[in-house]
Amino acid sequence: MLTAKLGRTELEINPLGFGGIPIQRISFEAATELLEYAINKGINFIDTARLYGDSEAKIGQVIPKYRDQVVIATKAMSRDKAGMAAEIEESLKNLKVNCIDIYQCHNVRSIEQLDQILSDDGAYAALLEAKAQGKIKFIGITSHKTPILIEAIRRDKFDTVQVPFNIIEQEPAKELFHLCKEKNIGVIIMKPLAGGALKDNAPASLKYILNHPVSVVIPGMESKSQVDENLSAVLNPTLTDEEARALQAEAESLGNRFCRKCDYCAPCPNGVDISFMFILDAYYTRYNMPEWATNRYRSLKIDASNCVECGQCEAKCPYELPIIEMLKEVHKHMGKEVHEHIK
Ligand code: SF4
Ligand code: SF4
Repeated sequence: MLTAKLGRTELEINPLGFGGIPIQRISFEAATELLEYAINKGINFIDTARLYGDSEAKIGQVIPKYRDQVVIATKAMSRDKAGMAAEIEESLKNLKVNCIDIYQCHNVRSIEQLDQILSDDGAYAALLEAKAQGKIKFIGITSHKTPILIEAIRRDKFDTVQVPFNIIEQEPAKELFHLCKEKNIGVIIMKPLAGGALKDNAPASLKYILNHPVSVVIPGMESKSQVDENLSAVLNPTLTDEEARALQAEAESLGNRFCRKCDYCAPCPNGVDISFMFILDAYYTRYNMPEWATNRYRSLKIDASNCVECGQCEAKCPYELPIIEMLKEVHKHMGKEVHEHIK
């Protein structure tokens, strides 16, 4: 079996991992069949999250049978100690295991959140306790924001980082990957197809990523054919000139009109969490999860419709995105008055 080391964890894993988001969309039976298929084909790293609906529970149907063969990673959004302790217990119960290999602080979006996690009463304290009790083995962090992960690594508290990386989102290659290599931190790549935007060149996108110093790439998979296609790309990672050209062409066709979640535009004086609006919209438009995204959007106290078009954010966006217009589209997709078609 093709394996690589996941940084300082020393865990031996196949560089193709299994992203646990899409199995929310298939039945328990189909998820079991798919996971067993993937494991029997040599995939031995599975990533999920408390936030991914029934993903943990579906994985929990399969993992106990293959416990010695599979590295399991999950994550939770809690920032405080008590909340994270409860999340860990819930994950153990869902996954039906006594110990989780990697538990990650999920989607850390600011230095303030990182400070909160690492404070005396923060989530990290719960993770350390769980580690001492043998409930988890390693502690990781995930973020869409490279500078947050760079800062987290500088504080030397995490064994793995998880970050989006692909031909469109290349920021991690500038400094993060080198820092991880220097500190022997495992690098887990999410959104390898830019949230499905690079779907026409999926194998080429995986090859592109694996030609960088990363440990494992975790595309979401919901069919056996996707498992086969992705595995064949990983087994033969040489990116041909033809593949590179097609991938580049697809990336260019997407243009530049999408948010990179850098938050240079923040804060909005009216309290709109601009980058989060676009993350939810990506789940709606590209990750094929309109119902989940809509529910989340509609639970917010302040949403895209609270934009008063002052223009401050647009002046600060380094990509010169038409944020005001894009926020209107977000609300058109997920605002209350437009949802009758989603059942
Ligand atoms: S234009 Fe809208 S989103 Fe941007 S800063 Fe002003 S109120 Fe906030
Ligand atoms: S809208 Fe622009 S500035 Fe704001 S997070 Fe997205 S890319 Fe960054």
